[in-house]
Amino acid sequence: MFDWLIVGAGFAGATLAERIATVRGEKVCVIDRRDHVGGNAYDELDAAGLLIHRYGPHIFHTNSAAVFEHLSQFTRWRAYEHRVLARMADGMLVPMPINRTTVNRLNGLSLTSEEEVEAFFSAQAEPVEEIRTSEDVVVSRVGRKLYETFFRGYTRKQWGLDPSELDRSVTSRVPTRADNDDRYFTDTHQFMPADGYTAMFRKMLDHPNITVMTSTDYAAVKDSIPHRRMVWTGPVDEFFGFRFGKLPYRSLTFRHETHDQEWFQPVGTVNYPGEEVPFTRVSEYKHLTGQAHPKTSITYEFPAAEGDPYYPVPRPENAALYKQYEALADATQDVWFVGRLATYRYYNMDQVVAQALATFRRIETTLPRGDGGQNLVAAAD
Ligand code: FAD
Ligand code: UDP
Repeated sequence: MFDWLIVGAGFAGATLAERIATVRGEKVCVIDRRDHVGGNAYDELDAAGLLIHRYGPHIFHTNSAAVFEHLSQFTRWRAYEHRVLARMADGMLVPMPINRTTVNRLNGLSLTSEEEVEAFFSAQAEPVEEIRTSEDVVVSRVGRKLYETFFRGYTRKQWGLDPSELDRSVTSRVPTRADNDDRYFTDTHQFMPADGYTAMFRKMLDHPNITVMTSTDYAAVKDSIPHRRMVWTGPVDEFFGFRFGKLPYRSLTFRHETHDQEWFQPVGTVNYPGEEVPFTRVSEYKHLTGQAHPKTSITYEFPAAEGDPYYPVPRPENAALYKQYEALADATQDVWFVGRLATYRYYNMDQVVAQALATFRRIETTLPRGDGGQNLVAAAD
């Protein structure tokens, strides 16, 4: 008998497994349908011996000292600040997020102060009464030309939707700057796990109270692994048998390549905003990992409607459907829903860890330790 069955060995599941096993001393079984731990952050050596991320580039960044300190128990870090260039149709590379260099290079200008760049943005900006959509965010700040150059095509490819059909939160992830800062993120902590994400997950899950079973789907074992309580980190609609219909998730196909040259591109990621190519970005891992190797490995990301669920799709009708599932989840005794898929939130890794730690605090306040629990969790049907 396990005290807990945790479905999913990504950040949400692994963080909770470690806390429950270490602090509460309870027995935890972690299952994942994939053949590895780490969820979407999983990394591995490819055939050439280069460390790559199977599910696309993962760069750790956070403003939360608590999250950073928590994860620091399980890894050493390598300082890394991510930089992204956008490739124009003519091959020109310019910094993304849009900054002073971007504006000057694209327009043959030599603006030198933030005031001049802000004046340039203001002159282009379109008045928008209420900023609701991902289009509104950008055109109200920098105008239609920069919007079309950098956001419209990229977003249409990434989401299969026009930015006018997506919540403002999506393009709000990417700032616009009047200075020369060319970092993708400005968080106080920007690091990569020194030995990779998978090594960090293995350390998190290496505890006598934790049993890990990979290549194990919940549906196949729900009746054969006895447990009292559960943490669910898979898609919330799947848990409830798609009772209210499918929640839309966006997928990706990854094309991994190894090139017989030391470097492929000047920075970790090059974005391709134009619709003349079907992929959105190309990432080169050696920039992220610091690995020295005569060859280099890269990944192309091709957005897709079908496939593994990677992104919840932020728009009002999806939020309304999720609310129905959330109400069911809240009413489901002894099952805790945590993570990007289970709470249908476009969360970064650090936000998932913060959510898992907050869930653990709630568990601690609501469930007495070592009470053994009363309920054998029966799966929802
Ligand atoms: P997941 O990592 O998805 O883990 C859930 C696990 O549950 C999966 O392994 C799945 O196999 C398993 N599972 C689901 N259903 C079942 C079932 N029925 N039975 C058994 N197992 C099941 N975040 C950043 O902070 N920085 C980045 O640079 C970044 N880049 C990203 C790039 C891409 C392409 C993507 C898709 C995401 C990126 N993210 C990034 C987000 C990051 O991947 C997530 O925030 C994080 O991995 C979510 O963790 P999770 O545990 O909630 O979910
Ligand atoms: N985006 C864009 N052009 C870019 C970069 C981002 O249009 O060059 C938009 C796009 O809609 C994307 C969103 O901003 O999905 C968020 O970008 P981010 O890089 O945060 O995406 P993620 O890393 O989560 O895939």
